[in-house]
Amino acid sequence: MIAARSIAAAQVGGITFAAGPARPAIGVSFEFFPPKTPELEAALWRTVTRLAPLAPRFVSVTYGAGGSTRERTHAIVERLEREVGLNPAAHLTCIGASRAEVDQVARQYWQSGIRHIVALRGDPPNGAGSYVPHPDGYRFAAELVAGLKRITDFEVSVAAYPEVHPEARSAADDVDNLKRKVDAGACRAITQYFFDPDVYLRFRDRARAAGVTVPIVPGILPVTNFAQVVRFSATCGTTVPAWLSGLFDGLDDDAETRKLVAATVAAEQCRRLQQAGIDEFHFYTLNRADLTYAICHILGLRPTAAAPGAMGAT
Ligand code: FAD
Repeated sequence: MIAARSIAAAQVGGITFAAGPARPAIGVSFEFFPPKTPELEAALWRTVTRLAPLAPRFVSVTYGAGGSTRERTHAIVERLEREVGLNPAAHLTCIGASRAEVDQVARQYWQSGIRHIVALRGDPPNGAGSYVPHPDGYRFAAELVAGLKRITDFEVSVAAYPEVHPEARSAADDVDNLKRKVDAGACRAITQYFFDPDVYLRFRDRARAAGVTVPIVPGILPVTNFAQVVRFSATCGTTVPAWLSGLFDGLDDDAETRKLVAATVAAEQCRRLQQAGIDEFHFYTLNRADLTYAICHILGLRPTAAAPGAMGAT
């Protein structure tokens, strides 16, 4: 354990940095994806070892397009629970699978001791056109949530979209969809990443006005590769503000400065959300520890003695 130091809160550039003993209590969760090679898998477990002492409320593992990572997702989730002692959540999508197939995967999770599912519709693989539900499948995430709850009492988290899901008929329809997912049994929403805290706060207000009372945890993406973020944001509907482009301008060949800028941007985003009363954050780690760890540190989080144990290198 690293002892808490008695330092005063500091105001730098409009950001209040947390003081030692009076650090705000925040909860974090970390998202990982199943790596494709043994080298990347070893890197994932190094990341997990680094982040585990921050005692995340849960860690989640994504499910590749159309269930393509089914076995790998399962193996990682199980190992996170059995060997690292973290509280894992398995992402599960319903696209391209019958209800019976999806139910079978869910039952296997329950039998392995996994109690938390992030229930999603999923997207067609790249270039495969628009979404068509499986003829015998759950059509939307709300149906999947209801199906999971029929199987057993899973803890279920779902996705939410501060900037509206790209296929939604309207912003109001999208919030109604979130409400349906919660009514079906979801106890938490995790948002798509965004960069402007006001976008999230306005969305949260709309969701609350529509009767969504569960926690809506902001999804935070520390920017490791700006060009990639720009490409991905165009597909998922996240706005990349001009000020963000300006901050990364000229840093293509300067990884060191890019990293510092990325940590500062995400930390400031979180601090503004904290000031608005948000005390829980979900980090899209991209299987890297450095930025997420630094941001959590800035937010006042410190390794705890009771944190889950570190893993041996693989
Ligand atoms: P839904 O909630 O079903 O909504 C999809 C769209 O359909 C929305 O536009 C909604 O408004 C609309 N809709 C819903 N119900 C109806 C209805 N009855 N009639 C008409 N329209 C309706 N993808 C993966 O493949 N694997 C992952 O692991 C993964 N993890 C994710 C984690 C998070 C936190 C987030 C935010 C997204 C994740 N995704 C993942 C991406 C997700 O699968 C896509 O964003 C997908 O397009 C929508 O999934 P959903 O669960 O939000 O769908």
